Amino acid sequence: MPVEPEPQLITLKEFLEDTPPGHKEIFVKDGLVQRLNSSPPIYDIRAIDLDLYCTTPIKCEGIRSFQKVMSGENITEGQSHRSVHIRFQCRNCLKTIKLYSLLVRLWEGTFRIWKLAEVPDFGPPTPAKVIKIIGPEKDYYLKGRRCENQGLGIGAFGYYRRVVENQKNRIIDEIIRAAKKIEAPKEMLQRLEDAKTETQFTKAIDNVKPGVPEALLISGRNPLTLLHSALSQGLHAETDEECLELATSIRVVLEDLTEHTTSVLKDSAELSRALSRLMLWKGKKAQPEEK
Ligand SMILES: [Zn+2]
Repeated sequence: MPVEPEPQLITLKEFLEDTPPGHKEIFVKDGLVQRLNSSPPIYDIRAIDLDLYCTTPIKCEGIRSFQKVMSGENITEGQSHRSVHIRFQCRNCLKTIKLYSLLVRLWEGTFRIWKLAEVPDFGPPTPAKVIKIIGPEKDYYLKGRRCENQGLGIGAFGYYRRVVENQKNRIIDEIIRAAKKIEAPKEMLQRLEDAKTETQFTKAIDNVKPGVPEALLISGRNPLTLLHSALSQGLHAETDEECLELATSIRVVLEDLTEHTTSVLKDSAELSRALSRLMLWKGKKAQPEEK
């Protein structure tokens, strides 16, 4: 008979923050519950703080401390699983809520826990700018994200590949917009335009070899070439793990690229505002002062 692998031993905080839903049972090493009543013994998930991303604009938009504010059901000992919902709230804005749906079993002195679901979704949020660029393919991108979070490499790769292939022109258009702002050479702009006429992303990069301005390079490398390389390797990848690594690279490159283009467009808008302020100020200085 095959031996079942030993479940992982992690802390409750690690379990809630870092374990994607659908994960197999987990033993929690630092105590899972607190006792609410001794006869009969009734327990509740221990009150801990989590460090989670809070999306509240301006006030938070980053990792914040979340406190446990509610447990749905009490836990009693027995062979059957208890379903438990726990709710955490951002301590900073007191607005953002994170909800976990769990299965817990307390039997013969051992506590085991399963994560069924969490709302909002597991993992860091997808930057709004990425969603804007991939536009019509948003749902597939988010499905890719969900697969990636759960370690489903082939699925994640498939979704991301479809997004890049179908939204190739929107991605290149965003690069062209940033390239124009920083006055990239005409030849570079032309090649980027030419790449849009090819039907497939990989063909476009193979045939046209478009370059991008230095400000858009990711660790010194052309993001379009990086996407191309991940997409072509993925088609030959044999295992789920290989596909997962490539899927993650595709997402990271897409997110970095949008971060770079956003910063170029923002910088150039700030620069032109500063320049026009300066010109206005100079103009005023040139005028003789009214008495
Ligand atoms: Zn908050």
